[in-house]
Amino acid sequence: MNTADPLSIHLVLDHATLLTMDDGRPGPLAGARQGELGRVDGGAIAVAGGRITAVGPRDEVWRFVEARNERTDAVDVLDAAGRVVLPGLVDAHTHLVWAGTRADEFEARLTGTSYLDLLANGGGIHATVRATRAASFDDLAARMTARLDALVDHGVTTVEVKTGYGLTVDEEMRHLDVIAAAAAAHPAHVVPTFLGAHALPGAYAGEPTPDRGAFVRAVIDMLPRVAAHPLGLNGPLFCDVFCDAGAFDVAETRAVLTAAKAAGLGLKVHSDEFENLGATALAAELGATSADHLVATTPAEMAALAKSGTVAVLLPLTTIGLGSTHFADGAAFVRHGAPVALASDWNPGTAPCPNLWLALAIGTRYGRLSVAEALVAVTRNAACAVGRDGVAGRLAVGRSADAVLTDSDDPRDLAYGFGTNRAVRVMLGGRWVR
Ligand SMILES: [Zn+2]
Repeated sequence: MNTADPLSIHLVLDHATLLTMDDGRPGPLAGARQGELGRVDGGAIAVAGGRITAVGPRDEVWRFVEARNERTDAVDVLDAAGRVVLPGLVDAHTHLVWAGTRADEFEARLTGTSYLDLLANGGGIHATVRATRAASFDDLAARMTARLDALVDHGVTTVEVKTGYGLTVDEEMRHLDVIAAAAAAHPAHVVPTFLGAHALPGAYAGEPTPDRGAFVRAVIDMLPRVAAHPLGLNGPLFCDVFCDAGAFDVAETRAVLTAAKAAGLGLKVHSDEFENLGATALAAELGATSADHLVATTPAEMAALAKSGTVAVLLPLTTIGLGSTHFADGAAFVRHGAPVALASDWNPGTAPCPNLWLALAIGTRYGRLSVAEALVAVTRNAACAVGRDGVAGRLAVGRSADAVLTDSDDPRDLAYGFGTNRAVRVMLGGRWVR
């Protein structure tokens, strides 16, 4: 058992089946260790000042509480018998700042129009860009807040949120401001990402020759303002690029990410969702924190991610959303030693879904992850994928008391049953938010 913190304990979660995800060592879990859950049967967690002050076998935790508190009858006790308790889930990839709907495109895709065709014809991301630019600041902040509420309701306590439906310096900065305002007023921990290179805006896609270079230079010119944004003061601030067919090529991606690195931003990349252009090898070369999607990634690139420690963020809800059967092969990433995370990719085009439990269930069946590997993928490894290792993704002393009480006493059941919300109670910073 680990203990710390002089404050009086006000809350104990008792009799829980704890999956701590903690071994005291930093970094993600990979390869043969990807599925190490740090399980404690008959466990307890003591909370003071919003943080975990003791966690482990319940008799040890209670001895600590009795030594620390003058009166233990003032402690709020929640009996978690029959419940698996996890660290608050981490959703490592979302696009929550948007207005409008793409239900019309969904219907068109059902009758055979492809996602990349819609994008090429001014739909897709461009449709959402038009609706989002037209929305007021307060409207966008309210929409993001409602989406954070839905994620927290599903047990997510740390959320990565990308811009990318602005695509001009003023709009992208406005969307960073939306993220800052919504995050400041919400209990969830928000990790911001600048995705200025999400799609080539129509103004740069003119005939006969699109001026792609001008837009890439415009994005690079935005980076000093992004890096100076107040969002970067309290934690990591990332830069992401959508490198794929119909979006940006690997040379353009390299130009943006290299400049972002020089500006002090963390790096992420949308890679291999539709076609393999080489962005995953680039992510490994540049030491990116994560590479995301990875449906068309080669074994050599998986090994490169393992070597660079870049987290492979797999997004099976997107594959479902596209009506595709071509899923990222989670088991192959594990076999090659790359740390694997699972995220929702919640966005209006390909994954309008806040349910990370469903990503977990699909990640086991079609990503061929074991249940334990998938549980690590939505907690510890997801925290590493957003630069929050040491802060989120584990039940460990000194961390924010973020935890999920599930509706089951068997970890396997959390992926076996699917389609529902498995979170019964959710704690964020030591307070019940569900
Ligand atoms: Zn995405």
